[in-house]
Amino acid sequence: MKALVFAEQRDGKIKKTAFENVSLVKKLGMDFECAVIGDAVDAIELGKYGAAKVVHYKSAKLANYTPDGYAAVLADAMAKQGADVLVMGATSMGKDLGPRVAAKLNASMATDCTHIEMDGGDLKIVRPMYAGKVLATIKLTSAKKVVTVRPNVYAAEENPASAAVEEVASDVDFKTVVAEIVAGAKGKLDVTEADIVVSGGRGLKGPENWHLIEDLAAQLGAANGASRAAVDAGWRPHDEQVGQTGKTVSPSLYVAVGISGAIQHLAGMSSSKYIVAINKDPEAPIFKVADYGIVADLFEVVPRMIEELKNRN
Ligand SMILES: Cc1cc2nc3c(=O)[nH]c(=O)nc-3n(C[C@H](O)[C@H](O)[C@H](O)COP(=O)(O)OP(=O)(O)OC[C@H]3O[C@@H](n4cnc5c(N)ncnc54)[C@H](O)[C@@H]3O)c2cc1C
Repeated sequence: MKALVFAEQRDGKIKKTAFENVSLVKKLGMDFECAVIGDAVDAIELGKYGAAKVVHYKSAKLANYTPDGYAAVLADAMAKQGADVLVMGATSMGKDLGPRVAAKLNASMATDCTHIEMDGGDLKIVRPMYAGKVLATIKLTSAKKVVTVRPNVYAAEENPASAAVEEVASDVDFKTVVAEIVAGAKGKLDVTEADIVVSGGRGLKGPENWHLIEDLAAQLGAANGASRAAVDAGWRPHDEQVGQTGKTVSPSLYVAVGISGAIQHLAGMSSSKYIVAINKDPEAPIFKVADYGIVADLFEVVPRMIEELKNRN
């Protein structure tokens, strides 16, 4: 079975999820190539993770994501590169793009997969369903398959290969043209991509205290995360939720403030390299996974940490 890894890019830079997926198909022992769509893209970087062949479908009109344009290119790429399975990240783009390509190819599809293994020449796939209440193990039976993989579940492992990048001028016909991109909150780091994440939970007591999380994150150059309790209470937007029904993160440093460490929260952050927990309850389950724990009132300790960091920075 041959895989085509779609390497998502933004502003010409390949996203981490592409490196993770290259590492995944390599680990599965699959024959694979990569496909990149865009204008000026630093595609050679894929070689660092073991991609030997990358086809860059190049067009100024495709510099930014356009649903019908990208879907048309990828459906053609599957045929041109002779692949059976298309692998991409279950990112905002992947969630929109995957089903469009699957429809074009008459392919079966598995979304937001958290585990994939080879099973007698077939793929055995695990994906959470019903808001994470069950884990389904499935097989895709059609000839062509599309799989989106949850970001940060698989590590991007360096495995250098000298990538050959073939540039193909893309002249696909599509209707949707990006007129303007309006950036979201200025400078806001994506929780799945940040190297440091500071998350807050119900222990913060209310949104009026969230400046503590924001200030600590700002001093550390970190992204803001939140527990589901904080999101469900409407204190924080859903895109900050970490956990089984939120995002999976795997930063170098994860700071959990006023978070108890419920199993569903741990499912989204326990693979972080170092975990620091601040909680006033010494029995809180978060301390079982923490490398460093501070048993204290967060309203006393976090302002002191911010002050200390300000003095150092
Ligand atoms: C199907 C399903 C999916 C779920 N998915 C997710 C998910 O994706 N992500 C997620 O986070 N949860 C998820 N949950 C919810 C999860 O079970 C917990 O309810 C939730 O994580 C609790 O959030 P919390 O830790 O912020 O709140 P709590 O459990 O209420 O913990 C608050 C913590 O703050 C501490 N605290 C209070 N005051 C202070 C203070 N002044 N100083 C220091 N510490 C203090 C307390 O000791 C306590 O440990 C899911 C649940 C289900 C059933």
